[in-house]
Amino acid sequence: MGAIRTATKSVGSMDATKVLEEGAITPAATLPAPTRPVTPEPEPSTWHVTAAIYGFTAAMALVTIALCIFGPQHGEGPIRVLFSQPVMAAVVCVTWAAAVWAPVSLHYRGNTYLFVLAEVPMLIGLVYLSPNLVVLCGVVAVAFSFALLRRQAVIKVAFNIASVGISTVVAAIVYRELLGTSSPVSPVGWGAAAAAIIATEVCMDSTVRVVTKLSGQTAERRGPLQLTAQALLTLATMCLAIVVLNAAWLNPWATIPLLLVAALIIGAYRGYTRLSLRFSSLQHLYDFSETMGSANLEPSSMSVDVLKEVCTVMRARRAELILAEPSGIPRRISFDDRGASGIEPITLDDSSIISQTIATGEPSLHNTPAGDPPSVDSIAGTYRDAVVAPLMNRHTPIGAIVVLDRDEEQDPFDADDLRLFTTLVAHASTSLERARLVEELRYEVDSKSHQATHDMLTGLPNRILFLTRAAAALNESGGVAIVLLDIDRFKDVNDTLGHAIGDRLLCEIAERLLRAVSGRATVARLGGDEFALVISDVTDPERAVEIVHELNIEMQRPIKMDGLTLAVTASAGIAMAPEHGDDVALLLQRADIAMYVAKERRGTVEVYSGEHDQNMQRRLMLGGLLTHALETGSELSLMYQPIGDVTSRDIAYVEALCRWNHPEHGFIPPEEFIGIAEQMGLIPQITDFVLNEGCAQLARWRDAGITIGLAVNVSGREFADINLVERVDTCLRRYDIPANLLTLEVTETEIMADLAAATKVLYELSAKGIKLGIDDYGTGHSSLQYLHKLPVNELKIDRSFVTNLPNEASNRIIVRSTILMAHSLGLYVIAEGAEDELTCAMLAEAECDFIQGYYLSKPQKADDLQEWILGGAKLEFAPVTKIPDSEGAALMLMSKSG
Ligand code: C2E
Ligand code: MG
Ligand code: MG
Repeated sequence: MGAIRTATKSVGSMDATKVLEEGAITPAATLPAPTRPVTPEPEPSTWHVTAAIYGFTAAMALVTIALCIFGPQHGEGPIRVLFSQPVMAAVVCVTWAAAVWAPVSLHYRGNTYLFVLAEVPMLIGLVYLSPNLVVLCGVVAVAFSFALLRRQAVIKVAFNIASVGISTVVAAIVYRELLGTSSPVSPVGWGAAAAAIIATEVCMDSTVRVVTKLSGQTAERRGPLQLTAQALLTLATMCLAIVVLNAAWLNPWATIPLLLVAALIIGAYRGYTRLSLRFSSLQHLYDFSETMGSANLEPSSMSVDVLKEVCTVMRARRAELILAEPSGIPRRISFDDRGASGIEPITLDDSSIISQTIATGEPSLHNTPAGDPPSVDSIAGTYRDAVVAPLMNRHTPIGAIVVLDRDEEQDPFDADDLRLFTTLVAHASTSLERARLVEELRYEVDSKSHQATHDMLTGLPNRILFLTRAAAALNESGGVAIVLLDIDRFKDVNDTLGHAIGDRLLCEIAERLLRAVSGRATVARLGGDEFALVISDVTDPERAVEIVHELNIEMQRPIKMDGLTLAVTASAGIAMAPEHGDDVALLLQRADIAMYVAKERRGTVEVYSGEHDQNMQRRLMLGGLLTHALETGSELSLMYQPIGDVTSRDIAYVEALCRWNHPEHGFIPPEEFIGIAEQMGLIPQITDFVLNEGCAQLARWRDAGITIGLAVNVSGREFADINLVERVDTCLRRYDIPANLLTLEVTETEIMADLAAATKVLYELSAKGIKLGIDDYGTGHSSLQYLHKLPVNELKIDRSFVTNLPNEASNRIIVRSTILMAHSLGLYVIAEGAEDELTCAMLAEAECDFIQGYYLSKPQKADDLQEWILGGAKLEFAPVTKIPDSEGAALMLMSKSG
């Protein structure tokens, strides 16, 4: 009988000595201990493994029986008789069974050695019983303790019985053959006893190795330490057995105190083992706290550290950590001899011992009764013994840690282990909580730094990060392009469709920009509707322009939002490094200037040039001066350009044209300052000035006996503001001017751009009797059909079509067809820019209703105009006549043709 069994810490690998102790000979039991949960009990891999083991067992049994019947000791009796054979057999059986059932376990350097003292009854039996009876005693004792006490499976019991049988019969043969006629208590007897014990040991070891091989496992290799320990313990058992035999030989009663002393020593040793284990637990607890104190504060690696430590301290084969905060998905990390699993999500099933601990916050101990099949848990999987303790956050359980299966099966978890484990987990809770707090802090720091460097709305880098990236690009790259993009008329989207749509539009634009640059540049949002790009490694501005065109194509694809289809365009300015500067601030400023020029020129992209700068400087200067001029009102004045009625030839009304004469900079053309005013948002002040001044003048003319209409230019953007109606109305009432004397002119392109917003205001103005005219008609691409839907009264054909009328056949066709169409829609037509009589005559011939132009009069001061009108001014021109010529038809003035 093997005296020493080691149960090493190895978890998955087959420990050959366990074969006998735990009877781990079914293929199922030789598989690695299940570490993944809810794996079904593994099926015996193949029936032939089972058959082979049974075959081997049967062979051993047959050999044993054959040796008993035909062996050299066949028929031999006991060497000496102490009691009658049945009594002696009973004594041997009982002591043998007790030795097998309760081995002494030695814990040394993480290994547990099981010390089976069965050699003592065996040697006594070899002397005081007939050899065959010794074999029978061994078989009965093993059968009793494995089948009844430990309730092993049939196959294991059968193997263990056969193994003990053959080892004992071999021991009996060796003993009797070596002993011969010598006394058992002589040196020869001692040698024979030692040889018999070694023979048993070797024989049993061999059978275990065979069965290990049969079940497809490789027997564990024992290190020198284990081999030495085994040899020493074999020697100790051997000596003990010989001492007991000698005592029994000399005086059987002497064995009683001897056995008593042995029992006391074993008892004391067991007590000592418990104490030392408890002490080592305390040591472990201390080590554990220390390890946790210095552990990695990364929560997942901290969890693995915790699991590794609890496995060591609890001498468990595996452990699991389950986190189940109410706010998150339950998840777990497992640890076994193969290492840690990743974090995996799980569902908390109420039946699980883990769920129960999390629900109650109470630790619990779960041991499967000896002989029962292993327990199965929906989370922890298959286990024999388990201890679960809750992970607490203050007073709330937020998870649990479970350790499963002791390294050595003979020593399941007990109440002391539960207490120790609960303490460990409480320590772990604190450490994990600390790791979690650190993670939270880290997350907060990360998100704060993200917030500080990114735009909240679009998630793009913000100005701060843009400046950093641009500076880095300038350092690293030979050529950098800085692009500033400004969405055209974005303010109108916000004003008319609301900020929610505006925000969504910005996000969509951000996405499109990102998609279009596809990693070639950093895209940032600098604020409002302004985006910026840093493009590295470009030296040719054309390349940057190309990229901007690509962006524009992407942006111009219609954007559908809440049933509306929006088309977005952007104006871009580009500054190149190193040509236009080598620091980010300067480059941004220059890209900004280029962008303004692009907006002004209604182009999409402009590369910075020195000219722009002067332009910009003048604009900035004029902007400041204009604000001042509007405050004082002294530098601004109005000129009036008359408009004649083609039918009656009377002066029907005048167009008020704003003039700015600066004391220092002189005359500033309206084209220049109106543009600046539009960009600076000063247009409403200019409109108010012109309206007031114009209406006041109309009142003065009325007093002078002149009743005349007034046309005022209004910027398209103003029609988005409902206050315009109130402002115009107040002005008319202030000077008591009938609404139908006032015409508001707005350019075609402007009104089309703001159509949605403008419609309501236009209708309200129209309802008050104020007339509306479309200025510069023909420069945009709007369809008359569309304009007709608005409450528009008149159409002013742009002077580019009119000025050259006599020489441009195509203009004649355009003018003629425009007049025809406008009339068919019930609109009056005015032609501006008529500079000569022939033009006027041609316009009249084309049935134009009103004419404005230098031919009739240049814009005049109010007083001059008053005098001019009172002097009987008329729109005078001679009608044209058609004279056929070689080309078809030419028009000539009647007066000139004679
Ligand atoms: P507009 O509204 O189309 O005004 C007509 C412009 O054509 C005036 O230029 C006028 O002097 C010019 N013009 C009239 N007849 C002839 C002609 O026979 N030949 C030529 N070559 N030009 C002629 P002006 O006064 O320089 O105004 C330019 C533009 O400035 C105006 O174009 C208008 O868009 C804007 N503007 C002028 N005053 C105001 C104002 O008070 N408010 C707003 N919003 N815009 C104004
Ligand atoms: Mg006008
Ligand atoms: Mg015009």
